[in-house]
Amino acid sequence: MSDEQRFDLLILGGGMSYVGAIRAAQLGLKVGLVERDRLGGTCLNRGCIPSKALLETADLLHRVTEQGAEFGLAGSDGVSLDYAALAKRRDAVVEKHVKGVEFLMKKNNVTVLRGQGTLTGPTSVRVSGGESGDVEASATDLILATGSAPRTLPGLEIDGERIITSDEALRRNDVPGRVTIVGAGAIGVEWASMYRDFGAGVNLVEFLDRVVPLEDADVSKELHRVFRKRGIAIHTAATIDPATIERLEGGVHFAIKANSGDRVTEVTSDIILVAVGRRPLTDGIGLEAIDGVEMERGYVKVNGYMQTGVPHLYAIGDIVPGYALAHVASHEALVAVETIAGHHPEPVRMDLMPRVTFCRPQIASVGMTEAEATEAGHTVKVGSFPFRALGKATIVGEVDGFAKLVADADTGRLLGAHVIGPHAGDLLPEPTFALLVEGTAAEMAMSVHAHPTLPEVLAEAAMAVDGAAIHV
Ligand SMILES: Cc1cc2nc3c(=O)[nH]c(=O)nc-3n(C[C@H](O)[C@H](O)[C@H](O)COP(=O)(O)OP(=O)(O)OC[C@H]3O[C@@H](n4cnc5c(N)ncnc54)[C@H](O)[C@@H]3O)c2cc1C
Repeated sequence: MSDEQRFDLLILGGGMSYVGAIRAAQLGLKVGLVERDRLGGTCLNRGCIPSKALLETADLLHRVTEQGAEFGLAGSDGVSLDYAALAKRRDAVVEKHVKGVEFLMKKNNVTVLRGQGTLTGPTSVRVSGGESGDVEASATDLILATGSAPRTLPGLEIDGERIITSDEALRRNDVPGRVTIVGAGAIGVEWASMYRDFGAGVNLVEFLDRVVPLEDADVSKELHRVFRKRGIAIHTAATIDPATIERLEGGVHFAIKANSGDRVTEVTSDIILVAVGRRPLTDGIGLEAIDGVEMERGYVKVNGYMQTGVPHLYAIGDIVPGYALAHVASHEALVAVETIAGHHPEPVRMDLMPRVTFCRPQIASVGMTEAEATEAGHTVKVGSFPFRALGKATIVGEVDGFAKLVADADTGRLLGAHVIGPHAGDLLPEPTFALLVEGTAAEMAMSVHAHPTLPEVLAEAAMAVDGAAIHV
């Protein structure tokens, strides 16, 4: 026998949607959240939080062992990694934040229904197999937020041991000696950077002709240069030939083939880490039985208010087209909830979403690349400024990279910002806000930046747009 529960809002999937659940509760809605696993989803359990906890140590280790002596820390070159202790910290950081979300659900009277959820209609769900028992739940509105899982490539079947994804990599409690990473997107380059700092030999294989292929071409070039300097072997315009994969006792042997066919590199690695993107989890949740939901390559199509074609049915996060990022998902959840509550939020705009990749040097971008702006019909003017010429970067001891601003040549309006270098992610709010208010590069230059700080790189890049950078 199943219980029946009635809500104002049901949310299927308890990842970043939890932010929307809290806002809905604040607005007086009775909220039910269906989750089959731990609250917080990919970001908290298998994504942003554990991976950045590991990257923080990678950064610390690099700074202490490679720069410590120069910074006056005697004996620092003898410091070594205790991965077991790091894994303990990684898990503690995750635990703290998962518990935090559980606490926030209780505090806001959000009912968490534990188990596998399946749609029985556009605004009703059957929950089964979890600790909440079998529950039929319905609501006035429903938000789909079932998230995503790692993709792989034909012939690179994940066995969890020799051929793995970020899911398994995050559960490992040791550092492999030799790693080959397939895919030089955000997740791939973060692992390449981290494993290299932890002392592994790293091969990075990318099918397209440059690393971080979604970033501005100058950023790709700079990351390639620094990664090579750090001893990472980069194979662009290349793939692992699946026919050559041979699992050995202590590793895996294979050939990396250039797309042009003129180069083959034989490699033996402890593991292959496949980082070729994510697929939306929209199979088997009952969507096929709902008329009117438009799908595209497995993604749920929505408008700027996250509405599907079916009244009262919304979708957010990694299952909708756009950037698969945590802050994008939570922003979408807020816009969906405000719409449900009858408010009139601004629609979600993918062109205003900031992106950060936490490799070293860090990469941050918002808006259009130079090539995208040109393709969109703008006559562009560009300003770049190197961290090498910035006082604060010398003090920090990280001088690789630059800030590059792309502006419309006729109006001066900022179109995009691209930073590679120290704390690049922390520099994004300024250009993100400038894009929101349709500001110009000249206005960014006019706004005084405190000295000595890293954001000064943006002021100089803004001045460089009009050929007026000072320190070059
Ligand atoms: C290694 C890695 C690093 C990342 N780093 C960053 C980063 O630094 N910054 C950033 O912004 N983003 C990062 N991301 C991306 C970020 O994690 C995702 O964009 C974000 O988690 C998406 O949120 P979501 O709510 O759409 O999906 P998810 O977080 O995946 O949540 C979906 C939830 O739905 C549940 N679920 C699915 N189906 C059902 C069902 N039928 N019944 C019940 N429950 C169900 C799942 O168990 C899951 O908990 C990273 C991702 C990875 C893999």
